[in-house]
Amino acid sequence: MPIYEYKCNQCGEDFEKLVFGNKQVDCPKCSSPDVRKKLSAFGMSGVEKPFAGSSSGCSSCSKGSCSSCG
Ligand SMILES: [Zn+2]
Repeated sequence: MPIYEYKCNQCGEDFEKLVFGNKQVDCPKCSSPDVRKKLSAFGMSGVEKPFAGSSSGCSSCSKGSCSSCG
């Protein structure tokens, strides 16, 4: 499944979107088309990427996707 992670250049919103082909992706928050695709760990079976040195890593819990620790 082609799920990609995006970050909005306008409001900074992070979101994931199912993308088929080269459809235009808009930010769900501000509807801006000015979004940038991030490296996605989704859609790849069982691939866990190390997030050390990545901009999306969490420094306090060492998890890649950190929605609970703030
Ligand atoms: Zn936005």
